[in-house]
Amino acid sequence: MRLLLVEDDVMIGESVLDALRGEGYAVDWVRDGHMADAAWSTEHYDLVLLDLGLPRLDGLQVLKKARARRDRTPVLIATARDAVNDRIRGLDAGADDYVLKPYDLDELQARIRALLRRAAGRAEPVFEHGPVRLNPATHEATFEGQAVQLSQREWAVLEALIARPGVILSRTQLEEKLYSWKDEISSNAVEVYVHSLRKKLGADFIRNIRGMGYVIARDASGPAPTDAGPDA
Ligand code: CA
Repeated sequence: MRLLLVEDDVMIGESVLDALRGEGYAVDWVRDGHMADAAWSTEHYDLVLLDLGLPRLDGLQVLKKARARRDRTPVLIATARDAVNDRIRGLDAGADDYVLKPYDLDELQARIRALLRRAAGRAEPVFEHGPVRLNPATHEATFEGQAVQLSQREWAVLEALIARPGVILSRTQLEEKLYSWKDEISSNAVEVYVHSLRKKLGADFIRNIRGMGYVIARDASGPAPTDAGPDA
C-alpha cells in the first residue's frame, strides 16, 4: 500500500514516516500544500494523510482540488484537538475520517487500516481467501492454518493482490504499492517477491497472466481446500 503523508512539521513528519514505514507502507512525504497537490494529482495513492495547516496552500484547498477532479482516494485529515470546525469543514470537503494531533500513532495506524478496508469494500478486518489468511493489524499470515513468515515487501505484494481477487495487477501497479520516491526499484523485484511467495503459498495461489501481470483467482481454493468449502 502506498500512502501520501502531508505534514509540514519536520519532527512530527519524521516520527509518522517511521511509524508508517515500520508497518510496511510505501510512503511519500511532502511538506507544503503545493507539493501535496502536485504529488496527489500525478501519483496513485491508496490513502492520503493530510495535515490541514500547511504553507503555500492549506490542506482544505488541497482536498477540495482533489475531490473536484473526482479523485476518490481515502483521506484522513489531521487537526488539533480543539479545532472542531476544521474537522467539520474537512469532512464536508470530502475527507473520510480524522485524527487528532498530537498523533497517537497506534490510533493512526488503526484508522488507516479501517479506511483502507472500507475503500476496498470490506468490513472484515482480516483477509481470508482460499488457504491464505492475512491479518493487517498483527501482520500474521497463515497458509492452510500454518504461520508463514513474510517480508514486508512480500506482504505488500500479497496484500495488494488478495484485496482484489480476480483483478490483474501489472508489474508497474505492484511496484507503485511497494516503493516510494526515495527507493531504488530493481527491474525484476516484483518477480522476485512473487517467486518467493509461491514457494511459501504454493505455485497456484498467485497466477502470472503472461504480458499482463499477476492475479489471485476469485475462486482460489488453493492446492488443498479446507473442509469449510468455498464462499458462496
Ligand atoms: Ca501543520
